[in-house]
Order: sequence, then structure tokens, then C-alpha cells
Amino acid sequence: MGKENTELKKIKKELLIEKERLNKHLLVIKEGVAIFSYNKNRISSNKNFVRYLSLISKEPINHETDIFRLKPLSEINEFIDKNIKSEIKISKDEVLEYEINIKKNSKYFNIKCIVFYDKSFELLISDLTKREKNRVIKSQITSNIAHELKTPVSAIQAYLETILLNKNIDEDKKSYFIEKAFMQVERLSLLINDISTINKLENAEDFYKIEKVNIFDIIKDIKEETSIRRKENKIQFNNQLPKKLIIKGNKGLLYSIFQNLVENSINYAGNNVEINIKKHFEDNEFYYFSFSDTGNGIPEKHLGRIFERFYRVDSGRSRKDGGTGLGLSITKNAIQFHQGDISAKKLKNGGIEFLFTIKKY
Ligand code: ADP
Repeated sequence: MGKENTELKKIKKELLIEKERLNKHLLVIKEGVAIFSYNKNRISSNKNFVRYLSLISKEPINHETDIFRLKPLSEINEFIDKNIKSEIKISKDEVLEYEINIKKNSKYFNIKCIVFYDKSFELLISDLTKREKNRVIKSQITSNIAHELKTPVSAIQAYLETILLNKNIDEDKKSYFIEKAFMQVERLSLLINDISTINKLENAEDFYKIEKVNIFDIIKDIKEETSIRRKENKIQFNNQLPKKLIIKGNKGLLYSIFQNLVENSINYAGNNVEINIKKHFEDNEFYYFSFSDTGNGIPEKHLGRIFERFYRVDSGRSRKDGGTGLGLSITKNAIQFHQGDISAKKLKNGGIEFLFTIKKY
């Protein structure tokens, strides 16, 4: 008898531990989960369940059971009602499943229902928004990439074909075509580098090391690196940032934000211009930056689109200058990685100003 008692106690204890583990699991998982009894009473649920329901519903959600009156989930509710009826028999090793995907308030959800043999049932809500958005972006990028790669590849093909088909071509012309083909290969390699940066940015947030970075030092490095080219174009560089401006972020990405902006000023602003970099404001969370140059500027009608991938204002000129149309898109992605945002403004006296925020940590 005593032995049986100890055995029973042991089982009870194990069951309790198991239950606690299950509850903890419910708390930490990303999905919204709720388990209901055969008469639609809540047995167990997690916070995300009500949170997701609130995002799906137009009206406020007060209780898990509100799910049974939600219009967008009518299909799921019909499935539940049909299968918890007493006349329906479910064998012990059977589970009945039904799932739907819905889009609500620009978010995507998958809702799955599982009915068990005792007519209790589980509802699982997964937020697919990030995955869905990534899928759309991916397919857009893929079709753009194919288009963008085609141009240099067909040019290289044409140059090399000309050399191959004209055996008696004179040396000068031959070198000219080889040089042209080489320039296109360089362009291809630039494109591929930029595309892989963007892909990495979108896919692997954890991929990037986070550390304390002094933005002043970054600008100082960029200033030095570009000094020869700036001298050629007579571009003055005014780094008006405080000597110590620390951001907890990824050094490489922070570098590319400013590098792309400076490179663009060198490539597009023209001669005899000034570059100004300032921190014009800060609050508890963000630094507010202004990057401007006093050069050619960008016509107003293009301003809304310059951050798009592969967008070039004057595609003929940029193509010649070797731009990929990805620079500002990388800058924007890197800023968004640091939870900030960027916009561009035409300056009164010509030139362009980029205003952006970067989260301090
Ligand atoms: P790219 O790789 O071609 O330089 P970006 O995305 O960096 O592409 O820039 C998009 C377009 O915006 C460029 O093609 C250029 O025409 C224009 N642009 C960017 N920065 C400047 C600037 N500082 N002054 C004038 N035009 C600019």
C-alpha cells in the first residue's frame, strides 16, 4: 500500500512538472495558442493568443472565447461546431485538423484548429507577416535582378563576340572592346556585391555583430578615404558631428550608410560643392542626422523613389558612371536595421539634404 502511495505521489509530481513545462512553453512561443473544452470553455492559453485576436478583430477583444464570434474566422468556427457535436465520433488515435490563412489590417495570419478525440480542441495562430512580406520582396528583387544583370551580360557578350568573329580586327579596336567588356564585368561585380548586401540585411538580422561605434570616427575615415577624389572635384567636407557620438549598432552597416551618401555626392553633386554632416537633434532614443550637399540635387518628382532598388534618376548617366541604383536602398535598409528612417529634401539653393534617424542602442 505504502509503496503504491509513493508511486502515485511520484507520478503526480511528474505530471505537475510536465504541466508547468507546458505552461512555460506556451508563454515563450511566438504563436498564439488556446485550448478549449468540448463546451468551448477556455482550459489554457497564452498572451499572444489574445494579442493576435485583437489584431484580427475590428472590435476590442476581452476574452479568448471572443474568437467564436469573429467574422474572419467563420470557416474555423464552422469546423469546430461541426466536429464537437455529440453525434460525431473521433477515435483515440485520430486528430481532426483545419487551417486557414487570412490577411487583416496589412498583417498575415495562419489559423489552425485541431479537434481531439474527447472533443476538446486547440487553436493556433501564427503571424506570417514577416515571412509573407519577405516572399513578396524576394520575388520583386528576383525579377529586378534578372533584368539588371541582363544589360551588362549582353554587352559583354556583344563585345567578345565581335572580337571572336572578326579575326583580323586591329589591335587598337580589340583592346577597346576588351576594355569595354572589362568595365561591364566590373559593373556586374558591383551589382552582385550590392545585391548580396541587401539580401543579407533582409534575411539575417542576427548575422550582424552589435557593438559601440563612434560615428565621428566613421566619418573621419570616410573623409580620409575619399580625399583624393574630393580634391579632383573640389568638394569640401564638413564633419560637424560632436567628437563623441556613440551608437550601439553594427559598424559595417553604419559605415555603409554614410559611405553611400558621400559616394553619391562625389558621383552626382558636381564640382565646387560642400558636404555637411550634422546631428541636428536627439531625444532619449534617437539621434537625428542631416547629410547634405550643395550640388546638382535631385528633381522633386524623383525624390519619392530614389530609395527603391535599382532606381536611378538619370539612368543613362548613372549607367555610364557605374551606379547600380542600389546605394540608397542599402543606406535605407541599414538605417531601418538600426530602427530609424530616412527621407530626402530638395534644398532651396540647389543640392540635396537627407534627414535620418538612428536608434542610440
Ligand atoms: P547609384 O548606385 O546609381 O548611385 P543610388 O541608389 O545611390 O544609386 O542613388 C539613386 C540615384 O539618385 C542616383 O542614380 C543619382 O541619380 C541620384 N543621387 C543620389 N545622390 C545624389 C546626390 N547627392 N546628388 C545628386 N543626385 C543624387
